[in-house]
Amino acid sequence: MGQELKIHNNLSRKKETFVPIEPGKVKFYSCGPTTYDYLHIGNARAFVVGDLFNRVLKSFGYDVTFVRNFTDVDDKIIARAKEVGKDAIEFADHWVNEVKKDMESLGMKPATHTPKVSETMPEIIQMIQDIIKNGSGYVVDGEVLFNVPTMKDYGKLSKKDIDGLQSGIRVEVDAHKKHPTDFVLWKPAKEGEASWDSPWGKGRPGWHIECSAMAKKFLGPTLDLHHGGIDLMFPHHENEIAQSEAANQCNFCNNWVHNEFLNFGTEKMSKSLGNVITIRKFVEAYGGQVLRHVLLSVHYRARLEWTDEVLQRAIDEVRRIHEFVVETQSYKAQGSAPVPLEIANCIEKMKDELANDFNSAGALGQYFTFLRFVKNAKDSLSEAALKQVHATNEFMKEVIGLINAEPSKVLKQFQKNEQDTSGTDIDASYIEQLIEERKVAKSSKNWARADEIRNELTAKKVVLKDNPDGSTDWKIQG
Ligand SMILES: [Zn+2]
Repeated sequence: MGQELKIHNNLSRKKETFVPIEPGKVKFYSCGPTTYDYLHIGNARAFVVGDLFNRVLKSFGYDVTFVRNFTDVDDKIIARAKEVGKDAIEFADHWVNEVKKDMESLGMKPATHTPKVSETMPEIIQMIQDIIKNGSGYVVDGEVLFNVPTMKDYGKLSKKDIDGLQSGIRVEVDAHKKHPTDFVLWKPAKEGEASWDSPWGKGRPGWHIECSAMAKKFLGPTLDLHHGGIDLMFPHHENEIAQSEAANQCNFCNNWVHNEFLNFGTEKMSKSLGNVITIRKFVEAYGGQVLRHVLLSVHYRARLEWTDEVLQRAIDEVRRIHEFVVETQSYKAQGSAPVPLEIANCIEKMKDELANDFNSAGALGQYFTFLRFVKNAKDSLSEAALKQVHATNEFMKEVIGLINAEPSKVLKQFQKNEQDTSGTDIDASYIEQLIEERKVAKSSKNWARADEIRNELTAKKVVLKDNPDGSTDWKIQG
């Protein structure tokens, strides 16, 4: 833990030096997805940012226990499962597996624990009992509610006060509530719905209680770090704090971090807008590395507007990085000059950026400075310098994940996209055939025929690039 890590803590709204409860260990919770469909790319930001935090904390030497849940019990899941005539838990489980595939495709490392609500019922029920016992929960007709005014500092994260919240709520809505801001901990199940036995009858938990219960189960009563999208700050995180502090009678979490939205155009990207681009579809089209790059090329607290330019820039940068990595693998050591500072210091500079509230954008900038330097100096790098080049690439891969484990695969996908002939009246095998014919023409110095072939291909939007080794690449002009 040589280096000090600064984190913008939303409890204080200030950047603070991160001090875990137990030296060297971090208890980290991140709110996970509700699984009933393919997730859209807007969801990916929270996952990739949580993955970044996990990786960076580990690289700073912390022993991280990272919990990310799956919400597999939820009104939307029950409704969707009913539509397709399936058991709600099995239906949700299918989507848990699909979401896991998406997470892998975004280069996410596994969390330490990925609990599901359906597997946490005893802990959820126990926590609700503790809340009731401690005077913050009450039962009305099989429903358990949390009595918000019992928590004197309710609103400390979202900076809302109970009086302000109360005036914004229509009083007639829930006459059975003691206070308009009270929220559900446990609700009775309707006939035929997935339900669990409880001291209050068959039912299921409200949304917020699951995270409090899972956090306690795997991390104990007090966490070092809790993360989620900014939309979860209120009411979800505020209610998590209220529940956990009422049940455990101690502080719930010392540091709260929230990532901003990924906006599509000028409106918040959400399914209801119809701007559905699923992670799955995106990855099929461009590869997960491109989406990861888009999401980490800006600071997690900055708003990110999705535009064609943002996408194109990410594609270009991912290509540059991966071409560079492949290229450096064939660099040969020259002489014994000392390792240039630009190479020797890059990892430290990237670490400094990451230590400053996980500034992945800053770290990426440092990496590109390094990349440009290395490319210019490639013919004069000693063995020691090359070793450091590889170590820097390894850091980029392991700690930020902006280098794929298989760089050539990433490049192949780009090539596949560029060689998509579906919008043209020429096919790939004919192009390959003409390229071969041109090669033969050139070797027999038949320049007229070689030019003719190039012109024919150009007219059909096929762009040729001759490589120094005599091979020729082609792509369809975009
Ligand atoms: Zn949560």
